[in-house]
Amino acid sequence: MLVVQKFGGTSVKGLERIDNVVKRIIQTKKDLSCDLIVIVSAMGGVTNELIENAKYFSQTPNPRDYDMLLSAGERITSSLVSIALNAKGFKAIALSGRGAGILTDDFHTKARIKAIDKDKIRSFLDDGNIVVVAGFQGINSKGDVTTLGRGGSDLSAVAIAGVMEADFCEIYTDVDGVFTTDPKIEPNAKKIDKISYDEMLELSSLGAKVLQNRSVELAKKLNLEIVTKNSFNLNSGTLITSEVEKEIISGIALDENQVKFDINSDKKNIDFNIFSLLASSHINVDMIFEINENDKTSLSFTISKSDLVVAKDILGDISYKIDEDIIKLSIIGIGMRSIVISKALEVLSKNGIKIVSISTSEIKISMLLRKKDGKTAINLLHKIYNLDK
Ligand code: ADP
Ligand code: ASP
Ligand code: MG
Repeated sequence: MLVVQKFGGTSVKGLERIDNVVKRIIQTKKDLSCDLIVIVSAMGGVTNELIENAKYFSQTPNPRDYDMLLSAGERITSSLVSIALNAKGFKAIALSGRGAGILTDDFHTKARIKAIDKDKIRSFLDDGNIVVVAGFQGINSKGDVTTLGRGGSDLSAVAIAGVMEADFCEIYTDVDGVFTTDPKIEPNAKKIDKISYDEMLELSSLGAKVLQNRSVELAKKLNLEIVTKNSFNLNSGTLITSEVEKEIISGIALDENQVKFDINSDKKNIDFNIFSLLASSHINVDMIFEINENDKTSLSFTISKSDLVVAKDILGDISYKIDEDIIKLSIIGIGMRSIVISKALEVLSKNGIKIVSISTSEIKISMLLRKKDGKTAINLLHKIYNLDK
């Protein structure tokens, strides 16, 4: 039997938590006497610190060096976990992305995994090792280190579990699983026992960082079940799987990582070429809205904060304003009929919460709100949709 366990930054933040993780790994090994691959993130806060360090010297560090830097966090954790396991008498080996033979494309900071050296990992397992892999990284065909986008250790875990044909893939974090909304914002958020890939994909893509959206996308493609669990207790967690009887509203997600560009033009038309340029830099543009009035055009769109510097570069001398005082709140579920939407609009307006913009589809409503309103809006909507019941 082969088990893959991933421990996120929150679970390995500091040596005491690493020790807790190591004890869990040993317990799994003893209980199941299975082969075990462990994927770890950087200790909580480390990746952000490395990013700040780079920014101290440059707002536009060259992507190759930047990835070398960011990948270091995960290598530290994997080495410490392996050192601790060996010290407790359990044979283990720490591998970087390179060591595990994780080959990616060339797109630094958001690379895609192309192949994993299955035989190499297998041989470490066959030698009796617990294999501890640094998440979030690989190498490109030139041998340069690449990283897989924020939250990318989830993707490493799913990809490795898929290639190695693991019997279980468990993602450990600091909450009991996937909730109807962020349990740190809404104390009445309810843990979901089972959720479908599609609903999970919506939640993740719209900001619920409990699982990285690309990892869910891959799990769906591979039809690989994932369980998210709390590394600090023994509760049962959430199963992410193919078919689940669906709730009308499955959850509410908050994305605090968006910025809005507002472009005003005297011309009738804005050069929409900017969107293809943004796309070719792998920048995901969201919530586009355009107003044409009296021969003037104003266009707004949102992107992820981490793409800000590159986007500014692409926009060049186009004049724009940047609005950072926004958050995106999304309600996810099947059957987003107008009744669902009007309920939300009513309760928000009654409570003086202004909606900057709104977009709807069959499975979600997304609203841009002012930052200060995010938490209250979640609490209000969670209640009116009875998600705590
Ligand atoms: P890790 O360090 O384990 O990768 P993350 O910080 O990336 O953990 O993700 C876990 C966090 O996701 C939780 O602490 C929680 O605050 C947040 N979160 C946001 N939305 C949800 C949700 N719907 N369900 C569970 N957690 C959520
Ligand atoms: N350390 C990386 C991040 O903070 C990857 C991860 O934690 O999954 O985004
Ligand atoms: Mg994470």
